[in-house]
Amino acid sequence: MMEDCVFCKIRKGELTSSKLYEDDDFMIIKDINPQAKIHLIAIPHMHVPYIDMMTEEGALLLGKIMSKISHMQEELGITEGYRLIINQGENAGQTVGHVHIHILGGEKLDEI
Ligand code: 5GP
Ligand code: ZN
Repeated sequence: MMEDCVFCKIRKGELTSSKLYEDDDFMIIKDINPQAKIHLIAIPHMHVPYIDMMTEEGALLLGKIMSKISHMQEELGITEGYRLIINQGENAGQTVGHVHIHILGGEKLDEI
């Protein structure tokens, strides 16, 4: 956990958020500034700032999280399809230095 990290603060309960799910590996919260009808963020408890710093262990954890998301489509309201996004660095617009997976859905998304 990092002192000044927004997502670590949410985990510790120092900042409020709409938390939809939490287990030993990660939590899912609603994004404060939604870019789709449903915009959630899956945040591993492990504090790693950038995806390009991820170890093999961390990558396996992300895979596990993606698998869990796929089994939670009903609860998350994304049974018609969803998009997972991980931003890396400035050009991708990463604003929070704690690796997280955006989950977008709930409507037909623009093609990318
Ligand atoms: P990034 O741009 O780093 O890939 O994504 C960070 C995301 O976190 C943004 O979509 C932003 O809206 C969201 N976010 C930033 N601060 C907070 C917060 O305090 N609470 C919640 N729920 N989302 C946040
Ligand atoms: Zn953090």
